[in-house]
Amino acid sequence: IDRETITVLSVIAHAVGIAINNTKASSSVLWEAIHDDLTGLHNRRYFNDRLIDEVDRAKRYGGSISLLLADIDYFKKVNDTYGHSVGDAVLVWLGSMLRNKLRKTDLVARYGGEEFAIILHNADQAKSFEIAENLRRAVQESVLPDDESVAITISIGISTLGEDAGSFQGVMNRADKALYMAKSMGRNRVCRI
Ligand code: GH3
Ligand code: MG
Ligand code: MG
Repeated sequence: IDRETITVLSVIAHAVGIAINNTKASSSVLWEAIHDDLTGLHNRRYFNDRLIDEVDRAKRYGGSISLLLADIDYFKKVNDTYGHSVGDAVLVWLGSMLRNKLRKTDLVARYGGEEFAIILHNADQAKSFEIAENLRRAVQESVLPDDESVAITISIGISTLGEDAGSFQGVMNRADKALYMAKSMGRNRVCRI
């Protein structure tokens, strides 16, 4: 290869390198836009968009979907007692635990600080209550990795499209109110209102 060709090739290689780096950067920006970086779960923004779509789809084609809002009980006390990094580890643990217990087609997101939101497909009132209750019990019975003294429980509010409410805002409000009720009734329980 002559000198001139080498120069041309190195200019091309440089441009390709920049293009690859840009692609990597933009795919990581895209990932961060819809995921929570602590737990790796989808974030609130993505969850809301998906729930809006799922509500539209279920209303048009039928099929039942349920929304669960799960919040760790007295989580502030976990941070205060064991420190923020143990609190973070608990969030990571709970995120993967919820993910592993549910079907691949169900959506699990970190909705806020210590609050997780779940869309269950093909789950009516009875089925969604059973699933939520299983999750609640599994958390209560778990021994958290690395620290046997940390025990947590969760409270869950449920609402089912069609049976409890007919819109995105409706199912969201009902699940939120049900979660509030679960808290005020003593926590570590599943409620629907
Ligand atoms: P309740 O049973 O009523 O839900 O009580 P709570 O203590 O769980 O609720 P509260 O809203 O009083 O406190 C939530 C705590 O969650 C406070 C906040 O510091 C903690 N938290 C939120 N996000 C994170 C996080 O990313 N990491 C850690 N370690 N803590 C977090
Ligand atoms: Mg809480
Ligand atoms: Mg909360």
